[in-house]
Amino acid sequence: MPSRFHPQLINDPFGDPGLYVEFMFERRAVLFDLGDLGPFSTRKLLRVSDVFVSHMHMDHFAGFDRLLRLSLGRERRLRLYGPEGLIAAVGHKLSAYTWNLVDGYEGTLTLEVAELQDGERLRTVEFRSATGFAREAERVSRQEGDRLLAEESFCVRAATLDHGIPCLAFALEEPAHVSVWKNRVEEMGLRVGPWLKRLKSAMLRGDPDDTPIKAEGADGAERTFPLGALRGTAATFTAGMKVAYAVDAAPTEENCARIAALARGADVLYIEAAFLHADLALARRRRHLTARLAGEIARAAAVERLVTLHHSPRYEGRGDEFLREAARAFEGRG
Ligand SMILES: [Zn+2]
Ligand SMILES: [Zn+2]
Repeated sequence: MPSRFHPQLINDPFGDPGLYVEFMFERRAVLFDLGDLGPFSTRKLLRVSDVFVSHMHMDHFAGFDRLLRLSLGRERRLRLYGPEGLIAAVGHKLSAYTWNLVDGYEGTLTLEVAELQDGERLRTVEFRSATGFAREAERVSRQEGDRLLAEESFCVRAATLDHGIPCLAFALEEPAHVSVWKNRVEEMGLRVGPWLKRLKSAMLRGDPDDTPIKAEGADGAERTFPLGALRGTAATFTAGMKVAYAVDAAPTEENCARIAALARGADVLYIEAAFLHADLALARRRRHLTARLAGEIARAAAVERLVTLHHSPRYEGRGDEFLREAARAFEGRG
């Protein structure tokens, strides 16, 4: 089964942080952070449907203008999610320009901006090019759990980190799914029917192998199998893919625990490592993580793969030291 999400860093680890995740077989992508979008083509950026902004420091938000510029004049809805203050920040960006000729544009660009307030409420506002980006359709909804966005085929969860200001970390997740193999069901002398739904549910719940499953024989008679005899033959289980992204967090235990909980079991964790651990005192003052902490978080979260980013420019040319320090901690050697 090919991976559904295809994540790519926007810049090298010393450049602005940002992650572009393309959805395979769809002309769609989501973006984590809006720093320098430099090397990315217009064609790729126009696939972005949803943008998740960790916080509005310039290296995470200055790219808003480029995305706005290339989206203007198109019939397009772009959703942005971020911490409290995102609506005002987008409003200020928009009010810096003059919009007297927008009614001549062919398509209407709608920006739907949602900010998470106190981790409890989601305030959403729309800005449409047709009205010169006046603030419209304001609404507030109660935030249920940590899901910022839930669609049928994926969801995005958020955790609030302390970076002197609230900074959001994100996890993009696909639900686990069970695929039924119709030909194998028939080879087993069984008939495709509603019993497969019960089989799927049992597999998704992770029921034990000896759980009896009532199946329907090709002759219509009921036959009972232990779940273990059907799992992997009649149906196969595929864990959903998970990509986590965490940047700009003070090196505190609380932050490390929150990132580890959000990223648990991820296929890949993209995480900031602004400083080397020898400079922990500096990392504390600047409220950033170190490479060793990034590795320890990845280990605690039992992720499959770790990618560090957002290295401070003071270490330019020493990228391999970050890789080594983070890898040592990830493997439990440091
Ligand atoms: Zn920051
Ligand atoms: Zn930053």
